[in-house]
Amino acid sequence: MRIDPYKTLGVDKKASEADIKKAYRKLARKYHPDVNPGDKQAEEKFKELSTAYDILSDPNKKAEYDNLGQEAFFDRGFGGTGYQQPNFNMNDFPWGDIFADLFGGGAKTTTRTGRRGSSTFSFDNFGGFGQQSFVPTKGQNREHTLTLDFRDAVKGLDITMKLDVPEPCSKCGGKGRNEKSGKVCSACRGQGSVMKPETIKTHIPAGVKDGQKIRLRGKGYPGQDGGAPGDLELLVKVNPDSVFTRDNDGNLSMEKKISLYLALLGGKVEIPNISDKAYLTIPPGTQNGAKFRLKGKGVVTDKKTGDLYVTVKVVLPADLSPEAAETVEKLQELAPLPQEEIG
Ligand SMILES: [Zn+2]
Repeated sequence: MRIDPYKTLGVDKKASEADIKKAYRKLARKYHPDVNPGDKQAEEKFKELSTAYDILSDPNKKAEYDNLGQEAFFDRGFGGTGYQQPNFNMNDFPWGDIFADLFGGGAKTTTRTGRRGSSTFSFDNFGGFGQQSFVPTKGQNREHTLTLDFRDAVKGLDITMKLDVPEPCSKCGGKGRNEKSGKVCSACRGQGSVMKPETIKTHIPAGVKDGQKIRLRGKGYPGQDGGAPGDLELLVKVNPDSVFTRDNDGNLSMEKKISLYLALLGGKVEIPNISDKAYLTIPPGTQNGAKFRLKGKGVVTDKKTGDLYVTVKVVLPADLSPEAAETVEKLQELAPLPQEEIG
């Protein structure tokens, strides 16, 4: 349900808490399903009002809505915490004082399990709305951080985790209530599922990135009234590597030290690689800092194949013996560097 809560309640952005409550109460009385039995439009309107009030009566949600705007607020499905619609089945919703006002006192409190207010009021006998109020509601998503080694993230791997996950309640068959009596199931408190430890095995695909989320359906929190459980979102954290760095296009980079002689004469050198051995051919006369590309030796996913960039660092011999120094002097005579090349 995407609404502009200010429009729905007919208040402006500067409206006070009291104004918001007043506006909601007035409209809620008008559109309440009990006053409009069987009127789907009124029921829809009432749900919109409830959603609007849920947002504007909560300073955090209100601030979030004001900051993000309508689209982003309702849109943060994947990744964000997402806006959870209020449960129209009366759970987790500030019905107490609203109903006290609507019906002249009575229901001061509601409880998760009983869904009953005081002796003068019972949601279970709540006219037309009572029947429709037990709409299956999807459970909330849950986030779990998964820390991976750099190379595992590049190659992909199978993981095993032990976590509590929702399982259909065996007592009520996942319905959340006794089908005959309509009573809330005591085993799952009407949620339709219960949390149980489970060993989760899943494959992390090659090329996952730091900050990426992997969704495991149905492994979040239980739903309500037989609603599907939420999802588990694995937030991937990738540890840095001692050799490689990685860019967003799946290319890897590394530095390779080579000797002065290899740089001068050229040759082949083995370089560390994520999956198999790789060799780099150094052409004669390779300069310090030269960068080479090894095609396809980067991050390989179903979608694309990255490359490996190797920057060479030429290492000079230290402490030349007099004899060695003499040879280098000879080399200098034989292969002088033009002045313009060395500045
Ligand atoms: Zn149950």
